[in-house]
Formats: sequence, structure tokens, C-alpha cells
Amino acid sequence: MDCCRTARRLGGEKVKVVVRGSRKKMKASAWEIEDALREGVPILEYLSPLAFVVEKGRLTGMTFQPSPEGPDPDQKPVFIPCDEVLIAVGQQNAFPWIEKDIGLVFNDSNRPKVDEITFQSSIQKIFFGGDAAFGPKNVITAVAHGHEAAISIDLFCRGKDLLDRPRPAVTLAGQKMGLHDWMYHNEVSEQQRQAVPMVSKVKSIKDRLLEVELGFDRKIGRTEALRCLNCDMQTVFSLPLCIECDACVDVCPTTCINFTPNDTEENLRAGLSIPANNQSQDLYVSGLLPTGRVMVKDENVCLHCGLCAERCPTSAWDMQKYMYETAKAGGK
Ligand code: SF4
Ligand code: SF4
Repeated sequence: MDCCRTARRLGGEKVKVVVRGSRKKMKASAWEIEDALREGVPILEYLSPLAFVVEKGRLTGMTFQPSPEGPDPDQKPVFIPCDEVLIAVGQQNAFPWIEKDIGLVFNDSNRPKVDEITFQSSIQKIFFGGDAAFGPKNVITAVAHGHEAAISIDLFCRGKDLLDRPRPAVTLAGQKMGLHDWMYHNEVSEQQRQAVPMVSKVKSIKDRLLEVELGFDRKIGRTEALRCLNCDMQTVFSLPLCIECDACVDVCPTTCINFTPNDTEENLRAGLSIPANNQSQDLYVSGLLPTGRVMVKDENVCLHCGLCAERCPTSAWDMQKYMYETAKAGGK
């Protein structure tokens, strides 16, 4: 997407993006595609490259084969005239610099075989992380791998067990100020994502170095910030304080709190007031209450609004801020 938009800025008047599949399957982010379209770069879908067409030593265009999944029933090759082609074919690992006879084991994807916890390769003193070890992910994952590999290297150099690793630091702190006051903004906003104001197209495509995103002003920034889902805020349940009045059940806007007889996870999930179908999200299940029931909360739909904690007459619910600090090398 950067290439096609830069091509426009460098004077390309008719810049097109041609993709094999659908626009939906493109790896670019949705907003990058939107920005390219806004700058007059059409995206032609379901076309696989066949050949460069060269006449008298000059490129005159390319032919493409329409895909059977696309809208063209004839599927005859298509010619698209052009004088420049930028190919975006992705990237792969290349380790020609690692000599084959040093004993490093590679997997089927031609990546070094690496332990997923310690990041240690088949040669004990060599560690890998990031895309080189696990294939394309994002920079956050690569940085996290760096931390984990550093822990391993530190333990390795000190002759310690690599699997006996320091744990992350985790803290929970209450957010109460007054009876109904929280240290965080807990109102539920129904605003949609705010669009980032942009420089006009006329200006932006004239200047390759001009920053096109103007950023939020104070008002839009505040509206956007209020959409925060307060994911760092946790509902913490104290079983001994609960008198099973069910007031929190009544007030919860997403009906995610339930008091019910205990059962298997499968039955609990199916039997909640609103079934908890997102299996990747754990249920919050309390111990046994005096009436023989348990409190079950579906974390998947909790808005972190704090209404349960406001309503609870005994403070059995509390809103607490969750802090997580990753483990670092030298921490043990
Ligand atoms: S924080 Fe809000 S959404 Fe979550 S359990 Fe409490 S009342 Fe329900
Ligand atoms: S409002 Fe408080 S005391 Fe009442 S059921 Fe909910 S957690 Fe228990």
C-alpha cells in the first residue's frame, strides 16, 4: 500500500493494485486500503500474473489470468497496460550464512527448530526468536520473544535450569474513591471509531514527505479515549462478603453474572442466562456459596462498567486495576 501511494506522489497518474484474490483477503490493514482508494488507486481483484509484455525492448503491460473464484465467467487473459511494475511478493527467511554442517536442525518451513518456551535451538548456546523462529507475526511478539530469549540466555550463562523461569509481576489495586466514584471513567460509550482527519488529497499526492494523517484534535481525541473498554480494570469477587441478594445480576447491562448450581464447564456455559459460546474466554467461577450455588461470570461480555460493584450492598464486587510486568532477564 505504501508503494502504490508513493507511486502516486512520484507522478504516477494511473496507479493500480492488482491482487490474486479478493480485497478482503489482502494482508494490508483495512485503513491502508481505504487510504489508497481515497487517493485514486483502484484495486483489481482475482487476477493472477501471467506475463510481462515487452515490445521493442520496452515494457508495455502485463497479462493476467482471471481467477475462477472471481466475477469474470469468460476467464480469458486480461491485458493491463503499464510502464512500471512493483512486485509485492512477501518475504521469507534466508539463512545461507549458517553452515549446514554445524548441527543446527531446521524444520519443514526452513526455520531453525526452536523450543517454544526457552527459544533454545538444537545447539544449546544458540537462541532464535521472532519471525526467524516462528514465521510472520508482529513486532510486539518479536519483542516479547526477545525478552524470553534474554531470560534463557541469562539462565544458561549462569548454569541454571532454563525451564525454572522468573514469573511476571502482577498487581491488583482497588479503584474506589467514594461510594459510586471510580478512579477511571466507567461510562459505556456507544460512539463508533473516530476517523483520523487527513490532509486533502490534492495536497497529499503532491508531496511525498507530507504527513497525511493530521491526528486527533482535543475534542475528537477525548471522544475516542472515552471508547476505551477499560480492559485493565477487573471485576474481583469476594465470596465471604456475598449475601446472594442477586442485585448485581439485575443491574448488569450484559447479563454476564449468574448464580447457579455448579456443573461441568460445558453445562455451565450452555446454562447461563446468555450462553457463553466463546470458548477462548474463560468463565469466572466462584467457590461454593452458602445456598450451594456458585457465581459464574462470562468474561467475554463484561463491559468493565463497574455497575455491579456500585450496586452490591456488601462490596463483594470490587473494581481493581490490573498491572502486568513482564519477567526480565536477571530477575531470579
Ligand atoms: S462490570 Fe458491568 S458488565 Fe461487567 S459484570 Fe459488572 S455490571 Fe456486568
Ligand atoms: S450484589 Fe453483591 S451481595 Fe448481592 S449477589 Fe451480587 S455480589 Fe452478592
